Amino acid sequence: MVQRHRARSRHYDLRLEIGGVLVSWAVPKGPTLDPSVRSLAVHVEDHPLEYIDFEGVIPRGEYGSGDVIVWDRGTWAPARPEDPAADVAAGELHFDLDGEKLAGRFLLVRTGRHRGRSGREQWLLLHKRDEHAVAGWDPEEHPRSVRSGRTNDEVAAAPEALWRSDAPAAEAEAPAPAPASAPAAPDALGGSGS
Ligand code: MN
Repeated sequence: MVQRHRARSRHYDLRLEIGGVLVSWAVPKGPTLDPSVRSLAVHVEDHPLEYIDFEGVIPRGEYGSGDVIVWDRGTWAPARPEDPAADVAAGELHFDLDGEKLAGRFLLVRTGRHRGRSGREQWLLLHKRDEHAVAGWDPEEHPRSVRSGRTNDEVAAAPEALWRSDAPAAEAEAPAPAPASAPAAPDALGGSGS
């Protein structure tokens, strides 16, 4: 699944279920079907399975605060099914997606590490040249949630759910309170993290 997440900076979170967790990469420019594009993908923390269909708002002050939509979802299959976790550890994962927006063969390959405190691994995400490839395909031209049909702006203005990043996963999602009459601008949510 992929979430479009507006936190301190906007990005897309690509999450693949491996070994009971969501192994995750934050892709600032988003995934694309365009096989000529190599997208930076920062390997971020595994997320709990409970997060797999989350759409709503992460409150200010919590990790990743901002708004989140379920931008795509579907199934994935590693090209080498034996041990995808080992392939992630080795820094190269070939896989097929069968989503509502994304489809075909993708490659994630580790290229290095960020300097600085995070030490997060930098990877590249790219789409192979196959029958699902589409030249010029831009994720920002496909902005609606596959769960609700809503955009990030619409979810931010009237979220149905909140995610408390600091709570245990089983307790993290909660119904959102009734929206304020004047919705907060997304920038006002502030926050940080991925
Ligand atoms: Mn994120």
